[in-house]
Amino acid sequence: MSRPPSPGVGPGADEATPDEEDCRRLARALECVPDGVVVVDAEGNETFRNAAAMRFRDARHAEALAAHAVDQLLEAARQGVVDERELPLFGPPREVLVIRAQPLADGANIFGAVALIHDVTDTRRVESVRRDFVANVSHELKTPLGALGLLAETMASADDVEVVRRLAEQLVRESDRLGRIVDDLLDLSLIEAQEAPTREPTPVRILVEEAVERLGPLAVAQGIPLQTEPVTDDLLVNCDPGQLVSAITNLLDNAVKYSEPGRVVEIGARPEHGQVLIEVRDHGIGIPSRDLERIFERFYRVDKARSRATGGTGLGLAIVRHVTEAHGGEVMVESIEGEGSTFRLALPLADATTVAEMS
Ligand code: ADP
Repeated sequence: MSRPPSPGVGPGADEATPDEEDCRRLARALECVPDGVVVVDAEGNETFRNAAAMRFRDARHAEALAAHAVDQLLEAARQGVVDERELPLFGPPREVLVIRAQPLADGANIFGAVALIHDVTDTRRVESVRRDFVANVSHELKTPLGALGLLAETMASADDVEVVRRLAEQLVRESDRLGRIVDDLLDLSLIEAQEAPTREPTPVRILVEEAVERLGPLAVAQGIPLQTEPVTDDLLVNCDPGQLVSAITNLLDNAVKYSEPGRVVEIGARPEHGQVLIEVRDHGIGIPSRDLERIFERFYRVDKARSRATGGTGLGLAIVRHVTEAHGGEVMVESIEGEGSTFRLALPLADATTVAEMS
């Protein structure tokens, strides 16, 4: 296997001096570094390139841009300039690299330069998600807050008792909405923050029954028959029951909210390939296929007006996805616009022995 050139390693390397042996060890250590490392001598000849930097040698397409930046920065570094450049590569895959070069000097004598190539793609993605999230939260809170202010102002100048009563009712509705958004945000951050969540083997039947019980009054009020298919007692999942009940309740809540009165909503659960599938089916308005991928994002709504009218926060499905993934499962959706939607939670079945040990 050919080894990349390393500083001070010459042809007679078998009888390496202690210095040469140190260099070799250093070169091996640099091979393990996830950042790309490129070293040149005073004349600009490459003396070392670690594995992570290999893809930028003889590179084509997007990587050639990075290779060019490395050359330029090394050239400047040989003249004593320390410089750094952030380089977005439009891929695919999309990447962001930070390339930094600095001279290698012994006092005033510059004997080469080193370039470091650091992949900051994930960091930048997280930063951008966080920025969008803060912007979205601010916007979502501003709308009901603005409405509250306006309602209070109008109330202050209204003389008619009936008008004041109606304004007060609206005020309560808006403040409830604000409260729900804050509750959902707290739920989301709680789920995210739980590093060692508690898990207990729980019959799926109980989770389903509890969710149906919670949603029952709303379904009755909306004229939606809620049909529960029988769930066998042997289906168990290791879970935080409160979180899973709230995920199933969110699915039922949507199924009821986005259905016309009289349309049945069904819920059931069955085992499949070592998993349990909890299924919520409705025959409501459905979801356009172009929106299906995005409905699990925080604050994404297909029809803003309808979501608002039904008291939605745009956070329900984000909570469902977080809870499911935190339990090692996934959430799936199938929907046809105008015909209805089916949401499925696939969760690992609790192993019978684990259950026996834990109970
Ligand atoms: P919301 O609080 O607005 O209901 P969710 O995160 O629960 O927020 O859902 C996101 C969006 O997905 C909703 O605004 C709605 O447009 C769509 N949606 C979710 N469930 C259904 C469903 N069962 N039928 C039709 N549309 C749905």
